[in-house]
Amino acid sequence: MRCPYCRYPETKVLETRETEGNTRRRRECLRCAKRFTTYEQAEQDELTVIKKDGRREAFDRDKLLNGLRRACEKRPIEQAQLERAVEDIEARLINHKKSAVKSSHIGEMAMRRLKKLDNIAYLRFASVYRDFADITSFQDEVRQLVSENKQKKALSE
Ligand SMILES: [Zn+2]
Repeated sequence: MRCPYCRYPETKVLETRETEGNTRRRRECLRCAKRFTTYEQAEQDELTVIKKDGRREAFDRDKLLNGLRRACEKRPIEQAQLERAVEDIEARLINHKKSAVKSSHIGEMAMRRLKKLDNIAYLRFASVYRDFADITSFQDEVRQLVSENKQKKALSE
């Protein structure tokens, strides 16, 4: 995607919106910093996800959003916060300029964001996602989280 002002080939995606089969993106040129909007056919710019078993499927932002939503059930997190997290992840993936990305990578990105929002939601997501084999690995994760929180608290005091 070249900048229409200076023809520089690299841009940063600021915002992505789906509109009737097209993707509307606000972009900013990495050289001249001018902003412009592109309308892309969904197929042309499709991001492929490589699953654990090696199968490939198109990146589905709704699926990711639903996964986050499930983890956040009855937690004090607003829908808008989750949407922002998904948008942020998608924008980063697009900026990677790779057409295929491992599902584990997306999962880790989602977990990093959830961790900042809510510890319980994070643990729920991680338990589904990382597929904790037993209670010990779950306990390890909780212990890790508790010690991180203590460190954070110590730093802020
Ligand atoms: Zn430019």
